[in-house]
Amino acid sequence: MSGGWQGSDRVKRLPPGWKKIRARILERDPICKICGVRPSRFCDHIVAKADDHSEAGLQGVCGPCHDQKSSAEGNEAQRNNPRPQTKRPPEQHPGLK
Ligand SMILES: [Zn+2]
Repeated sequence: MSGGWQGSDRVKRLPPGWKKIRARILERDPICKICGVRPSRFCDHIVAKADDHSEAGLQGVCGPCHDQKSSAEGNEAQRNNPRPQTKRPPEQHPGLK
């Protein structure tokens, strides 16, 4: 008991049949639910800390939004980084036009 598992929130316990669940979510949400622009590539837990693997607790997201959400969740405890999850600053995508 050394308390060395503080970072384990980021490791989700995935249920058996996860690949099928993921495939269903990506079929249901072909476009990223966060930015609404790019195609979904990841199956994201809407509530990060709930072990909710039902379709209602999951959403399809694109790679950039998934990364941003994951890192926002990781920084949540520190609150040094007031980065909104649903709006991305335009500076981050210089090549998007
Ligand atoms: Zn997105």
